[in-house]
This record gives sequence, structure tokens and C-alpha cells, in this order.
Amino acid sequence: MMETILQEGLSALSLPTQGIPALIRYAELLAEKNQVMNLTAITDPAEVARLHFLDSAALLTLADFQGKRVVDVGTGAGFPGLPLKILEPSLHLTLLDAQRKRVDFLQEVCESLGLENVTCVHGRAEEFAQEHRESFDLAVSRAVAALPVLAELCLPLVKPGGQFLSMKSVDCGEELNAAGRAVHLLGGRMEKPQDYVISGTNIRHRLVIMTKISETPKKYPRTFAKIKKNPL
Ligand code: SAH
Repeated sequence: MMETILQEGLSALSLPTQGIPALIRYAELLAEKNQVMNLTAITDPAEVARLHFLDSAALLTLADFQGKRVVDVGTGAGFPGLPLKILEPSLHLTLLDAQRKRVDFLQEVCESLGLENVTCVHGRAEEFAQEHRESFDLAVSRAVAALPVLAELCLPLVKPGGQFLSMKSVDCGEELNAAGRAVHLLGGRMEKPQDYVISGTNIRHRLVIMTKISETPKKYPRTFAKIKKNPL
């Protein structure tokens, strides 16, 4: 079932399918661990295939990930970062999350799948940025915060010339408008968002794309309390 959905979905995206056994193993580990801790509300295998794996995979058709240093901010149970790594093994991935249990789970998955060049970090993006400023070619994120907040968490991590790719729903127009000022202050430029349909579904999502055009001023990111209280 899951195999067929992935086979068809990845082929429709013209993506390689050799990662499918690893994705299926990942789904098994996710289902098993989800019994004892809250990792995802999506449990039906067909939905895991579409709403987690194929949604994440869509990014590979919208940006060049080959050999890139990528950070997934607020990765949770590994989305979108881990499917990206499984389907594009050349990338160097950092999975970052503020919840230790989730990071422990990700570490287990990486070991079980024998993934190389993946670093699982327990931490908050705004603190991680103090030591890892402008260290990544790409930052990615799904379902973590509203864009003005998210831009301050993610853009400082991206090298000038790199991009921040934020997975949103198609009704994010208001957030998008509100984020313009933040993106500018953080050294970024808002690109034209790219809508995509999750392979094998009618679900349309939006990839918000910001290019880092100059270094982020040292005063950003601020503490989370300040970011939240007074978004840029
Ligand atoms: N990206 C995943 C998880 C979304 S849930 C998915 O789409 O399925 C949001 C996650 O972001 C949670 O796991 C939470 O711990 C993490 N998070 C929220 N704020 C964060 C921050 N400032 N730094 C790092 N992780 C954060």
C-alpha cells in the first residue's frame, strides 16, 4: 500500500525511487514510537506516505539540494528533513528540535537506517544561531511558527546566497505580507512563492522562498520571548 503510493508519487515527481525501503522502515519506526509518545497525528500509512513523505519530497522538485548543507528547523518527527536526506543522500543534514524526546527518536531512526552526514541537535533555533550563524546553504521548515517569527529563527542560519524554504498552506497570504519587513531587516529577499500539489492528492501547498542577500545583523535573532512579544 505505502510502497505503491510512494512508487507512483515519486515517479510522478520524476524523483528516484531507491529510497522507498528506507522510507517504509522510517514509517514503521514512527508508528511504533508514536504508540508511546506524541510524534505525529497522522497515523494511517497512506496518509503518512502522502502528507509526510510526498509533501516533503516535493521540495526536491523546487530547489537544488544536491550536496547542500541543510538545516531543518523544528523538525519534530523529521519533516521535511529526513525524507529529503533519504531521497537525496548527497546532502549534509542538521535536524534541529527543541524537544529532546523527538531528537532522541530521530537519532534512533538515523542509526537504524544507517544514514551518514546527519546531525540531530536538541536545541532552540534562536540559541543554535549564536554558534552556527550563516553556516547552511538551505534552511527548511514546516509547521513551526508564523513567517515573521520563523524568518528570525531561520534566516540567521543561512549563508549569503543561500535560501530559506518554508512550507505553508495556500492561505498564508496574510503571513506572507506581514513577513516582508522582517525578511528585509534580516538580510533576506522574498522570492515568488511556489505552489505545488502533493503527488497523488488534490492538496495544494505553498513553498515560501527567501534568498539571503546580505549578512544578518548581529542583534538577530533576539531571545524567543522578544521575538514572540514583538515580531519584526
Ligand atoms: N516540522 C515537523 C514538526 C512540526 S511541530 C512537521 O511538519 O511535522 C513543531 C516543532 O517545532 C516541534 O517539534 C517543536 O519542538 C519545534 N520548535 C518550535 N519552536 C522551536 C524553536 N524555536 N527551535 C527549535 N524547535 C522548535
